[in-house]
Amino acid sequence: MEEQRRPLTMREKADFDISSAKRAIQQGIVKPKILRQCWECKKYLEQGNMYCEEYAYGTLPEYVMFPKKECEKFVPNKEISFDECDEKLYGGIIGHCIGDILGVPVEFSSREERCTDPVKEMRAYGTYSQPFGTWSDDTSLSLCLIDAIGKDGDYEVVANNFIAYMENGEFTPEGKMFDIGRTTQLSIEKMKQGVSPIECGMKSENDNGNGSLMRILPLAFVKEKYSVEQMSEYVKNISALTHGHIRSIIACEFYVEMAYSLYKGNGKEDAYRSAIKYITDKYACSYPEEMQIYSRVLSEKILECNADEIRSTGYVVDSLEASLWVFFKGNSYKEVVLSAINLGGDTDTIGAIAGGLAGIHYGLSGIPTRWIQSVRKLDFIKEEIEKFEEKIQ
Ligand SMILES: [Mg+2]
Repeated sequence: MEEQRRPLTMREKADFDISSAKRAIQQGIVKPKILRQCWECKKYLEQGNMYCEEYAYGTLPEYVMFPKKECEKFVPNKEISFDECDEKLYGGIIGHCIGDILGVPVEFSSREERCTDPVKEMRAYGTYSQPFGTWSDDTSLSLCLIDAIGKDGDYEVVANNFIAYMENGEFTPEGKMFDIGRTTQLSIEKMKQGVSPIECGMKSENDNGNGSLMRILPLAFVKEKYSVEQMSEYVKNISALTHGHIRSIIACEFYVEMAYSLYKGNGKEDAYRSAIKYITDKYACSYPEEMQIYSRVLSEKILECNADEIRSTGYVVDSLEASLWVFFKGNSYKEVVLSAINLGGDTDTIGAIAGGLAGIHYGLSGIPTRWIQSVRKLDFIKEEIEKFEEKIQ
């Protein structure tokens, strides 16, 4: 007989956090002293008493960072200002990052698990034992591209940033990489051996994970500087640094086109249709079998699907479909990203892909401030966007 699932009690949730936090300390991922992040709950920490209303019981050990899990009153100690910024540019990049952050603690969890314990707020620890506000490879590898463009760099510069990420933990919140896809790792190994970067990507049909789609967003903001042909070549080559199969390239081209259209101020439907037209015009004759693979996207049928027809896996087609589905289902940035996360599966990447679209569409001011201010190394990300913005104008 199938076991009845039940929601976790607060005690069980807290125990899970404690064991995850202990692991993080043991593995040297975090130091106990930097665990105190919830300003709202700081008073409990100062009293050496972790009691809070949300958990509503006894005393928790001191190393629990975020006792009032899902605390809406979180106030950071240092606010970073985004006055007069380009709402859609910053909204897209930071929205992508926050989608990633929300998914990191629950990556690989099942849909059933997310139904019994839905993510409603930013969380800490979980899958990778990482502290509050930690972003993963989706953001790191996007920052590698943003940084390279900000330096007027070519494919070599992007490749060197990828190597620095994998080898030295650059472009990470903690100076240490904790998450990388197999195809991406193998491709970066080739870059290290001196292979021309755009030849490094894997090209077999089995190499169609979402690893290039999850880091392609920055190209949506540079599209205007190039002709249609040049841009297509650029997107193809940036995907092919790690993912060189046509299926991954089509996903990236579709996503960049749609994100660009949103960036130009078009509505969701218009942006979606311009991406469908772009891909169909370009690939219908040369890759009819790929058009079949993407038929639910290109026919808009994906929008009529029920949740149980949406597969939230790391396969590039599934991830694109899931992101489109949540983007159209939600009526705010928050609704879009939370429904992405609560599909379970490859939560951080689908959160990031959907979060990028939603961040552009709803703008930076459409993203909850407490989430923006919770992003680790937010000042670093802001500086990278500023350098990038100078170069794309
Ligand atoms: Mg990730």
